Amino acid sequence: MSVEVLRTVAALRARCDEARARGARVGFVPTMGALHDGHIALALEARARVGPSGLVATSIFVNPTQFAPTEDLSKYPRTLDADLARCADAGVDVVFAPAVDEMYPDGDQTRVRVSGVSAPLEGEFRPTHFEGVATVVARLFNAAGPCVAVFGRKDYQQYRVITRMVRDLMIPVEVVGHRTIREADGLAMSSRNRFLSAEDRARAAKIPAALREALRAWDAGERSVRALEARAGDVLRGAVDAVDYVAVRDAEDLSALPEEVPEGRRAVLAVAARVGATRLIDNAVLGEDRV
Ligand code: AMP
Repeated sequence: MSVEVLRTVAALRARCDEARARGARVGFVPTMGALHDGHIALALEARARVGPSGLVATSIFVNPTQFAPTEDLSKYPRTLDADLARCADAGVDVVFAPAVDEMYPDGDQTRVRVSGVSAPLEGEFRPTHFEGVATVVARLFNAAGPCVAVFGRKDYQQYRVITRMVRDLMIPVEVVGHRTIREADGLAMSSRNRFLSAEDRARAAKIPAALREALRAWDAGERSVRALEARAGDVLRGAVDAVDYVAVRDAEDLSALPEEVPEGRRAVLAVAARVGATRLIDNAVLGEDRV
C-alpha cells in the first residue's frame, strides 16, 4: 500500500474537490508529522466518520508561525518516510506535505487571532502560539474544505481554540475532539517524548499520575478547585523540574471557575510541566476521562 503525497494547495484542493463532486465526504487530520499511535487514531477516526468511500487527508507541516523564536522549531523531529508508511498502513488516502513557502507565500498579511479561549494557560506561556495554530489551520481548512476534521484532546486548549474559530468564522466543518492515546503507564503519546532520557521518562510518568490523583478526588466528591489543583500539584512537584501550571478550568472555554466547581459544569484539569529540557502538557476532563 502507498499513500498519495501532495505538495501544493492547488493539488490538495483539486483532490478534495474531486472527492466532494462524486458525493464523498472529506475527513482531515492536521499534524506536524513524527507520527505516533495518537495521530493514527485520529486518522482512523476520520475514516470512521467519512466511510470507506470518503477521502481521508492528513497534513504534515511543521508550522513555523506557532513556534516562538526561543522554541524548538529547528529540532522538531522530521520523519517523513516513516510517516508516509504509517499513513499508508492506516488507510490514509492523501498526505499533504507542503513547503513553508506554499503555506506562507511571500508577502502574506493575514493572521487569525482567537481571543478569550487562547489567552490563559498555554496562551500565557506561549503568547504567539495559538495565533500561529489558528492561522495555519484556517489556511488548511480553506485548502482542503473538509467535512470533518479530527483533533486530539491531548492538546485540549488547541481543540477548544479551533472549535471556537470554526464557529466564529462560520467555517463549514465539523470539529471532532479525539481522546488522548497513552503509553502503558499513562504518559500521553507525544512527538516530544523521544527527547526524554530514561530517567526523565520515568519522572514524566508523574504527569498522568497527577491527573489520576485529581480524577480520584473528583470521583470521591471533591469539588474545590484549589483542593483538586493541590492534589495534582503535590504529585507533580518533586518529580518534574518545573510546573508551568496545574489548573482546573471550564472545559468549554478554559475560563476560571468559582471556588467550587458548580453542579453540572464540565471542568478540565490542565497541566504543563518541564522534565529536563522537554515541556509536556496533558489534561483530563473531570468525571469523564480515564487516564
Ligand atoms: P501535532 O503533530 O503534535 O501537532 O499533533 C497533531 C494532532 O494530533 C493534534 O490534533 C494533536 O492533539 C493530536 N495528538 C497528538 N498527540 C496525541 C495523543 N497522544 N492522542 C491523541 N491525539 C494526539
